[in-house]
Amino acid sequence: MRVGWGYDNHRLVEGRPLRIGGVDIPASVGADAHSDGDVLLHALVDALLGAAGAGDIGEHFPDTDPRWQGCPSSRFLDAAADVVRARGWDLVNIDATVILEKVKLASHKQAIAAHVRELLRKHWQLDPTAVNVKAKTHEGCDAVGEGRAVAAQVAVLLRRRLSG
Ligand code: MG
Repeated sequence: MRVGWGYDNHRLVEGRPLRIGGVDIPASVGADAHSDGDVLLHALVDALLGAAGAGDIGEHFPDTDPRWQGCPSSRFLDAAADVVRARGWDLVNIDATVILEKVKLASHKQAIAAHVRELLRKHWQLDPTAVNVKAKTHEGCDAVGEGRAVAAQVAVLLRRRLSG
């Protein structure tokens, strides 16, 4: 078994979509980012790569590379899942926390979890409870708490694929 952990944050600005786990959340602000700024998927990619000993998202998808400009983060997730599978690992579960102050995610958590599970379906058949999304605020502290940023933390567990 292997554990992996990922963290990401992005500044929030007006006029950008707020995409979390591939789901567009109704909001007046969104992530200021080179890609679509999906903090949950970026943290998930780092957790997967980390668990497999395969580096980090910046090595695989440098933000100086025009190929990744405006890219949906589901493409990063697909590529990271390919790396993890190629190294012989299956995904057991994902536990994610999204930290966002003003936009409330409570009514979107289930949809986000279902969407992440769907994004991974071509790579792994996951148990229905294998993707868990939690939402919290930052209690008014720091940039996230002042509504100027969004952050996500993700833990994953991998299991060595049994051959034969
Ligand atoms: Mg990011």
